[in-house]
Amino acid sequence: MLDRPMRPEIRLLDAGAVNRIAAGEVIERPASAVKELVENAVDAGAGRIEVALAHGGRTLIRVEDDGCGIEARALALALARHATSKTDGIDLTDIRSFGFRGEALASMGAAGRLRLMSRVAGADGAALSCEAGRLGETVPHAMSCGTVAELRDLFHGTPARLKFLRSDRAEAQAAAEAVRRIALAHPEIAFALRDVTDGAGRVVFRAPAEAGQGEEALRRRALRVMGREFDADAIWIDAEREGHRLHGLAGLPTHSRATAARQHIYVGRRAVRDRLLAGALRAAYDDLMTRGRHPAAVLFVTPEPDRVDVNVHPAKSEVRFRDPGLVRGLVVSGLRHALAEAGHRASATVSAGALGAMRPGGPPREPGRISAAFARGPGLAETAPRWRGFEAPSARVEPAGAPADAPLGAARAQLHGNWIVAESADGIVLVDQHAAHERLVYERLKRQAAEGAVPSQGLLVPEIVEMEGPDRARVLAEADALDALGLTVEGFGPGAVAVRGTPAALGSPDAAALLRDLADALAAGEGTGLLGRRLDAVLSSMACHGSVRSGRRLTADEMNALLREMERTPGSGQCNHGRPTHVTLALADVERLFGR
Ligand code: ADP
Ligand code: MG
Repeated sequence: MLDRPMRPEIRLLDAGAVNRIAAGEVIERPASAVKELVENAVDAGAGRIEVALAHGGRTLIRVEDDGCGIEARALALALARHATSKTDGIDLTDIRSFGFRGEALASMGAAGRLRLMSRVAGADGAALSCEAGRLGETVPHAMSCGTVAELRDLFHGTPARLKFLRSDRAEAQAAAEAVRRIALAHPEIAFALRDVTDGAGRVVFRAPAEAGQGEEALRRRALRVMGREFDADAIWIDAEREGHRLHGLAGLPTHSRATAARQHIYVGRRAVRDRLLAGALRAAYDDLMTRGRHPAAVLFVTPEPDRVDVNVHPAKSEVRFRDPGLVRGLVVSGLRHALAEAGHRASATVSAGALGAMRPGGPPREPGRISAAFARGPGLAETAPRWRGFEAPSARVEPAGAPADAPLGAARAQLHGNWIVAESADGIVLVDQHAAHERLVYERLKRQAAEGAVPSQGLLVPEIVEMEGPDRARVLAEADALDALGLTVEGFGPGAVAVRGTPAALGSPDAAALLRDLADALAAGEGTGLLGRRLDAVLSSMACHGSVRSGRRLTADEMNALLREMERTPGSGQCNHGRPTHVTLALADVERLFGR
């Protein structure tokens, strides 16, 4: 018989232990303390918030605000657990502040040495310290109205936690990121972040207060947080659906990044890490970007308060929507619509990069200024236009009857068999003929597929393509679906496939190459259904085979027709691989190049 274990006794934990346990959830690292303190300052109606850090926030975090302050007699209560002024606890569905759980200050007082100093208008200031969960005494403290929270030696009592922290630099970066995220959502508040590790203090981030909360204010704030390139490449979004609003700035597809770090998504003004929203953002850019690239965006989803639950996670970084499908639809269609309207507008930094490349003396001096989209592509970067003295254009175009005020202008010449040069009202437009045509074919196929019928062109003599094993099986398994897309295939003996018709939009493609790429596209998206992501991949590889190869001479009419179709086609600013299809050089910039 087994030894009976001694029955353990059940007991209530003392307040200190409860706070330490809770602290672990709320304050995970210095950046979470920074976030909680700055959010408190925002909740207090501050117009100015100053943050100072030392050693990545491990030894010191100091947040000062000019908000409403805390009365001297209430300081002890503010530091108590589950004490809050932000909700009566009865209606947790109507939360309009960042805080409502009343545990951040108590957690910091448990995990470090916290000193709270505050003064409300018309009274004297006071200060109170809390260390390892034990409150000191409230004492008078001379200061101006507002609050200063000073947190020293975070996790000094929990060495296990300390060990999990990363380098001071990494922690400082995470803390700065937390401040920036909040700053992005509050243009009307002035922010400053200093690193005071070595006495003097160094300004890490600073943003002045902006008037209002509309597009102008958000753009100016985003300029501070995200930089000039994003500002130039971001489009404004404002959409609404059944009590939910979506607004903010979204980067053009050509302004892509290798990670999702520059995606800031908010519910109300609360930064969230939400799978649903991140997925919707990805889906919106799905066929505008290569795999592995990420758009940059600052987006605010604002449901009516009772349509979302923010009380899901102690750090309040997750939310639950009452109608997730609606929210997803709003984000995907809102973004797609705005991106389509931005249409043929390619990344502004791309043309900055191109201009740099044309500067006498070769490549630009500041490589950082070329947007990733431009520098990345093995295609474009290597073939970037270089002005090598005078070169006879390979096709000369007489001024045609193209509208001078059309955004992409009138085609004037075709250079090196692929570059269309057009003259617009106030600039010079360079078009990558191959990339542009590929995009147009893709959009045409997509339109036709959506309408349910992709016109097919029968082949007089079926083309027999050798294809075996899983590739052959994959293609044949989708024969019906491919037929609806204008591609008619059937088995031909055990080691081949016969192609009887191809989508008319493709002209006369190389059937063997097309089929092989299709097999790849089908393999890559296996199990996801042809009507889901795979359809885009299939259409995209089809389009690739139907485009005007670089090297083909175009007549003036053909070129102008291409430009006009680009203007009409949503999403034509970049090819299916996320590279720009054209760049516009503003006449003013070109003139500056020549010192005029
Ligand atoms: P919560 O923010 O969830 O209410 P906290 O522990 O962060 O919980 O803060 C407790 C209370 O202390 C707040 O509800 C608020 O009344 C007060 N408080 C905290 N920070 C500030 C501040 N910077 N200015 C004014 N009041 C504050
Ligand atoms: Mg709080």
